[in-house]
Amino acid sequence: MTLLPDTLLSGYRSFVQGRYLQETQTYRALARDGQTPETMVIACCDSRAAPETIFGAGAGELFVARNVANLVPPYNPDGEFHGTSAALEFAVQALKVRNIVVMGHGRCGGIKAALSPGSEPLSPGDFIGKWMSILQPVAETVAANALMTSGERQTALERISIRTSIANLRTFPYIAARERAGELRLCGAWFDISTAELWAMDPETGDFQRPLVDVEDAVI
Ligand SMILES: [Zn+2]
Repeated sequence: MTLLPDTLLSGYRSFVQGRYLQETQTYRALARDGQTPETMVIACCDSRAAPETIFGAGAGELFVARNVANLVPPYNPDGEFHGTSAALEFAVQALKVRNIVVMGHGRCGGIKAALSPGSEPLSPGDFIGKWMSILQPVAETVAANALMTSGERQTALERISIRTSIANLRTFPYIAARERAGELRLCGAWFDISTAELWAMDPETGDFQRPLVDVEDAVI
């Protein structure tokens, strides 16, 4: 028996013999000089929506925090454990990133849970239910909309959750201050894992549109 899963070891072998070999100088420079990523991405834990893969990013390029359903909680310095807020604090205060991108994705299990709270296999005492309550009451409003199909409700809440998270980002005083000063841009994105479509949020209207539709249409 190996100490790590075989798939990880074979993947690591490919990495060392491939990318690391080709980019050794980059890795060494990053080790020597430290990281200076310009962009933080807040993404879902979902194994199908890895930001580094989707954006073709190399080492040192993206500062990534992943959590269930790519949510940003409101600013709440209450002495409790706040992993996402800690990552935000480091990215903005120490690394001084220029962009924060909240990236949602299609078929998100966390969003599905928010639309049907208490359903199997979740129980009221689980962490996911408490975490997804960040989206109340919008989740309840969307869940109660009988005019939409379940698929439409799912996509709608995935996108509403991105706008909610961006609003919550602005409750962090240093994020709001840096955005006001023109030093930080807050963006929303949504990735469709079934078609590879990338949708980006218009900061004025909140609507989502496809910035590279011509590229996607040529491939998909
Ligand atoms: Zn997800």
